[in-house]
Amino acid sequence: MAANWRSLRARVNGVECAGIVKANAYGLGADRVAPALWHAGCRRFFTANHDGALAIRNLLPDADVYVLNGLLGDPKDYIETGLTPVLNCLGQVETWQSHARRAQRALPAVLHLDTGMHRLGLPPGEVAQLRERPELLRSLDLQFIMSHLACADDSDGAMNRRQLAAFHQMRRGLPEFPASLANSSGIFLGPDYHFDLIRPGYAVYGGNPTPGRPNPMQPVVGLSAQIIQIRDVGPGETVGYGATYALKQATRIATIPLGYADGYMRAMSNQAAASIDGVAVPVVGRVSMDLVTLDIGALPVEKAHVGTWVDLIRGNEMLDDLAMRAGTIGYELLTALGGRYPRVYSGGGVS
Ligand SMILES: *Cc1c(COP(=O)(O)O)cnc(C)c1O
Repeated sequence: MAANWRSLRARVNGVECAGIVKANAYGLGADRVAPALWHAGCRRFFTANHDGALAIRNLLPDADVYVLNGLLGDPKDYIETGLTPVLNCLGQVETWQSHARRAQRALPAVLHLDTGMHRLGLPPGEVAQLRERPELLRSLDLQFIMSHLACADDSDGAMNRRQLAAFHQMRRGLPEFPASLANSSGIFLGPDYHFDLIRPGYAVYGGNPTPGRPNPMQPVVGLSAQIIQIRDVGPGETVGYGATYALKQATRIATIPLGYADGYMRAMSNQAAASIDGVAVPVVGRVSMDLVTLDIGALPVEKAHVGTWVDLIRGNEMLDDLAMRAGTIGYELLTALGGRYPRVYSGGGVS
């Protein structure tokens, strides 16, 4: 993971690289991820909400910690804990500014402009108002002006160019501040998108930032389980709830102890594949809450028994592929992997 972060930073030579650790660091465990990124040289961390930010603040007292969802709740909580809100509307700018005046110091902030995603950030009309009221920003320590790309994973996208143009246009007439636009995929759109700070999440965790092209990142997350039962099943028999899978020929069915309660999604029923010793073993029948059934007929009998390890995610293609088979993206898959797995963290040299 640290190597991925470093390789992204190297790719944008000289531009600063943040760590995106929202949703418990994409499900990987922010308590392990954030210190490892810090160790790799990361100094700025983006979280979704105040609680997530507080967890990072407690781990890394000297880090800059940003709250993407904005200035919600009592602004004093941000001041007391030294968290930096991403200001998503003019009202938040005004609130933060009035607290800065009261505190008699420039409070840190990031200003988010909506360049076309229409999710968060100041729309053009509010940016125009801000240009006419420069005093609103004067008492803030505005660290970055940022925006977010809606279609960064579409490398030919006209939408990216539109948002880039809008970003330049909207910043015109505002005082000059460092800027940030690119998420993981945005980094791969080229230097025009890099500005002063890149904000990669998914690629750091091994996801493919360039869908349709080979994954340039190193694999980070693996998921494996041990077979708890094997049975011979004859042709015409069915497997699992709803009897959705009928066997065309006799085979062996292996059952492993994880299911949709662990984020191995029910949508993977009859769609996904695991692997044993590099041999693909398809998921047959419905994924249950706590169990998954696999057709291991392709494997020599002596290669699979109770206790044999099965890889559900391994290598850097399997995460995205598995998500696709479930009709989703690796981001959702990672964040869905629940708290029931024993988690083993290896390498890193960070205690
Ligand atoms: C989640 C997020 C990122 C990181 O996106 P990835 O696609 O995971 O790299 C960057 N910026 C914002 C505003 C985000 O919400």
